[in-house]
Amino acid sequence: MQPIYLSSLSQPELSEFVESLGEPAYRARQIFAGLHQRRLRSFAEMTDLPKELRAKLSEHAVISSLTLESRYLSTDGTRRYLFKTHDNFPVETVFIPEEKRDTICFSSQSGCPLQCTFCLTAQLGLLRNLTAGEIVEQIIIALNDAYGVSVQPPRGTNLVGMGAGEPFLNFEELMKAIRVMAEPSGLHIVANRVTVSTAGVAPQIRELAAIPDRPHLAVSLAAPTDKLRNELMPINKKWPLPELLSACKDFEKSLKPNERLTFEYVMLAGVNDSDEHGRQLANLLNRHELSAKVNLIPHNPAEPLPYHPSPPERVELFREILESKGVHAFVRKSRGRDILAACGQLAARSAPESLRSPC
Ligand code: SF4
Repeated sequence: MQPIYLSSLSQPELSEFVESLGEPAYRARQIFAGLHQRRLRSFAEMTDLPKELRAKLSEHAVISSLTLESRYLSTDGTRRYLFKTHDNFPVETVFIPEEKRDTICFSSQSGCPLQCTFCLTAQLGLLRNLTAGEIVEQIIIALNDAYGVSVQPPRGTNLVGMGAGEPFLNFEELMKAIRVMAEPSGLHIVANRVTVSTAGVAPQIRELAAIPDRPHLAVSLAAPTDKLRNELMPINKKWPLPELLSACKDFEKSLKPNERLTFEYVMLAGVNDSDEHGRQLANLLNRHELSAKVNLIPHNPAEPLPYHPSPPERVELFREILESKGVHAFVRKSRGRDILAACGQLAARSAPESLRSPC
């Protein structure tokens, strides 16, 4: 019989499992807190449980699917973790230290089925969807590494689902992970601290809007016209801009006060960064009466991708064009480029040996 993978279980599922072992319900609460609040990684560390129960758990269950293969430390403090799942698929996670609150960027799939031409992950293809537990574990391991086991992040943590994979093509497991992480008796990272980024899976944008405790939404645009977007993000052929933006418009109805929808726009030199593209983008958003903000993301070059990042002056001009047409735009700083941890660079590759740090 396959052992039960505990990190993937919701609290009620864990209670059911514990009861099936003939144990009282309060043991499930202890185990859940051990896994998610204290972030323990072995049954041996759960010393509040009787020895016999720990032995029984080891017989029927496992805590972990992920094994840390390598860890890289960028000169800007960003950390990239490369894991292997129990069945040998790569998973990548990035920890980004920030002034106000640190951010963890997690993956929802191993590889990615979408073929965005500016993204290295696309070259892996889809290897497999990650389970809820494999998503939760990425956060637990990154937190333990950054702060120490059982130590709470002093300023809380933001999570972004912008690592490898298209989160909305793994919707059920993603949402389960978000619910598990929000539990007050666990990690207690509420959905309000989570942003999920999609390449434009329109039906799930609407599905997300209907969930009361949902994460924030970011949509990667990369182009202001269907013609260019079809080339850069082939998913556009399935859900072209009018359909995607109409789903975004519907999503806006679910926004809370002070919440904004975010569009991401990767800046590719000579491809999508002209003044005309800027005007087209502003007109597109204004036509749909979207009061979203736009994050301009300098492209992170990686062999063999054929693109170069737009020069900073071009990015700034582009931003000014958007602002002049009433669209709020911000330039995002690239983090962890030297360790292949930046946007679009996750492809389970080795970074320079000098930046590897012992696991
Ligand atoms: S940008 Fe995102 S959706 Fe597109 S290929 Fe890369 S990981 Fe997949």
